[in-house]
Amino acid sequence: MNVTHLECALCGLRHDAGVLQNLCVACGKPLLVRYDLEKASDTLTRNSLTTRESSLWRYREVLPIQDEANIVSLGEGWTPLFKADRLAATLPVKVDLFIKDEGQNPTQSFKARGMTAAISMAKELGVIKVAVPSAGNAAGAMAAYAAKAGMDAHIFMPSDTPHANIVECEQTGAHVTLVDGLITDCGKIVAE
Ligand SMILES: [Zn+2]
Repeated sequence: MNVTHLECALCGLRHDAGVLQNLCVACGKPLLVRYDLEKASDTLTRNSLTTRESSLWRYREVLPIQDEANIVSLGEGWTPLFKADRLAATLPVKVDLFIKDEGQNPTQSFKARGMTAAISMAKELGVIKVAVPSAGNAAGAMAAYAAKAGMDAHIFMPSDTPHANIVECEQTGAHVTLVDGLITDCGKIVAE
């Protein structure tokens, strides 16, 4: 809706947001989505937020989807904040300390936030197959969102990944390959 372009986080090179991209074509670093924030502020206001759904997509003006029909959501975001007074009392400065419980996301980690955006965007761009290197939580999130979208998910994990994460991916229908190496070795396989 309000996306202007993609921009390399390191070298600043502009990339087209309307076509499938991966890492920066010049330096290989991740791309950031840039928005027309003035245009976003026309409809993203304190008042408009009060009537919206309790999920991450309530902030859709600053999320990278053109057509809302492509949103792949499992109810992520809107996790609770707990006031942690006893922990705050142990700190050298007086603060109001809150802990945000991201374990209440659909796949029990904050990775659900990134994956709802990534898989929705992949759907919008016509992707039918996705792959990710992961040591656990990103894999579980991608498997679940790909399953919801009907995409083929391929996951490459180090062989010492906790069993629960492997089972989570397999149960949602992802193809899991265990790699005898580190997360960076998994990344190389995905890149190939
Ligand atoms: Zn770059």
